Amino acid sequence: MISYTCNNIFTATKPIDLDDMKQLTDFEKHVILDKGTEAPFTGDYCDFHGAGTYLCKQCSEPLYRSADKFNSGCGWPSFDDEIEGAVKRTPDADGRRTEITCVKCGGHLGHVFEGEGFTPKNTRHCVNSVSLTFVPDAGETAYFGGGCFWGVEHLMAQQRGVISVESGYMGGDVDNPTYEQVCTGRTGHAEVVRIDFDPAEVSYEALAKLFFEIHDPTQKNRQGPDIGAQYRSVVFYTSDAQRETAEKLVAQLEAKGYRVATQIEPAATFWRAEEYHQDYYKNKGTAPYCHAYTKRF
Ligand SMILES: [Zn+2]
Repeated sequence: MISYTCNNIFTATKPIDLDDMKQLTDFEKHVILDKGTEAPFTGDYCDFHGAGTYLCKQCSEPLYRSADKFNSGCGWPSFDDEIEGAVKRTPDADGRRTEITCVKCGGHLGHVFEGEGFTPKNTRHCVNSVSLTFVPDAGETAYFGGGCFWGVEHLMAQQRGVISVESGYMGGDVDNPTYEQVCTGRTGHAEVVRIDFDPAEVSYEALAKLFFEIHDPTQKNRQGPDIGAQYRSVVFYTSDAQRETAEKLVAQLEAKGYRVATQIEPAATFWRAEEYHQDYYKNKGTAPYCHAYTKRF
């Protein structure tokens, strides 16, 4: 009698740890699974120069290094080399172009072109941003909640040394909350931004100071017209050094007479918000209604 477990079958046919496989959004599926193409000059990594590694969005395998990225002007991230063995080349059916995919999961990346003369390696991997996730080399992460995340994200993203900013939710007790759930004010989450930054370029203190100057830290459980605990002022720290910096800045503000409502709490799980909340003002082409700079230090 032959006996086997599901696990045997699984490892024999698909050597991928499913825990590593990301749930893709509809647009990510369109590009990564259905071999679609993002519009030129729209991806997060087209005009982007952080030092670090680009992973496969779907399976987190390292694919490219920032040292091999160059500006081709084509509207998509361009690399003249891949991490050895990470990228598979397959001629398109019509033989005119060569598709590139992730060796590990088969996810579609884009196309590779030879002989264009951009760099001495004479190779251009033309990759969709949406197929990639960037991880900074020596990055640090900060989380701030200062009312509606659209405005905080917009203003933080313009700072030198900031590698990426994402809008999301933190501090509540429901897993994977939706915007509608958070907006009820009953999940306990705050709207926050996650900021990945290069501490060699900008200090946590500089970002925290800016945080206190682009929202009103004296308002409790609201920020202007946005009312509710989800709009509370909060610093979620990721290290003792961050906590000490935040406490120091609050003390400085209190010494100036501000009655600071900002909470200082350890970081919890960050739940990335729905896609339409990301880069909200950039995509809309308008200025924030909810946040503006006020000098306080
Ligand atoms: Zn992959």
